[in-house]
Amino acid sequence: LKKYFPVTGSIGRIGGVKGEVKAVNNVSLNLYPGETYGLVGESGSGKSTTGRTILRLTEPTDGKVIYNNQNIFELSQKELKSVRRDMQMVFQDPFSSLNPRIRIGKALEEPLTIHSIGRKIERQDRVFEILDKVGMRAEHYYRYPHEFSGGQRQRLGLARALISNPKILICDEPVSALDVSIQSQVINLLQQLQDEFNLTYLFITHDISVVHHISDRIGVMYLGEIVEEAPTESLFASPLHPYTQALLSAVPGKHRTQARERIVLKGEIPSPLDPPTGCMFHTRCPFATDRCKVEIPQKKEISPGHVVACHLYDE
Ligand code: SF4
Ligand code: MG
Repeated sequence: LKKYFPVTGSIGRIGGVKGEVKAVNNVSLNLYPGETYGLVGESGSGKSTTGRTILRLTEPTDGKVIYNNQNIFELSQKELKSVRRDMQMVFQDPFSSLNPRIRIGKALEEPLTIHSIGRKIERQDRVFEILDKVGMRAEHYYRYPHEFSGGQRQRLGLARALISNPKILICDEPVSALDVSIQSQVINLLQQLQDEFNLTYLFITHDISVVHHISDRIGVMYLGEIVEEAPTESLFASPLHPYTQALLSAVPGKHRTQARERIVLKGEIPSPLDPPTGCMFHTRCPFATDRCKVEIPQKKEISPGHVVACHLYDE
């Protein structure tokens, strides 16, 4: 998958640039039924763009998304509509797009109306049913968006995503705006709903502790690429990419001891307008050699399902 954004004019320190930002560059991943795939990385690494491009909320520059043996990028708008029923997005603030003057029950019903699902009375029943599934009460149907707390809003965001019975949820930082205690409630709810409805999650977050808790497998993104991918246990027990090692070493508690000592990265994440040559990480990597500056590391599978792109693991 590739998503490049064209750029003209001046950005930050670089004046008068024309070019493109390679927000997503050759990202390749499989999402298996019923699993949670955690996509983790710093802000600006291309995680959200990956999620949005998969759903074609933004058109891809190149690549394919294969779902039910069809390439989503080749579907007509009409065919896309039925795929959209199967895949829903959950955002950090699910209410930012809601009309504050529309009662929550009506707002939840809207996706059913759009997809012409059921008769009016059935749609209402479905709203009450889904409110119950996400731990809300029937009386909440009649309330307005501003009457809910952050945690309740995210429950309602989930209700809205789930109302049309999707198979896949792409969750973009769904708990990042919540207090830690509320975060774990919402994560538990996500896991409960996954079991009950056999859902598949692509879970996007900058928070490595959150992905650890929820994911079966994890992909680590840096400047538009997945630099390491592994089953969760394998990633935490033996992080291979120096970037992953640095991310894990910054987490307080048990993960830091596994990664031994705190690794502090030099500098900032480079501008995606002017990305480094060779290994994208070489400007910040404590192990970089001259080779890293010129040669792009290829992905290698080091143990089952544990893939890394770094010259340290060449023969
Ligand atoms: Fe560091 Fe080189 Fe590995 Fe890149 S390829 S992560 S610069 S050691
Ligand atoms: Mg993001």
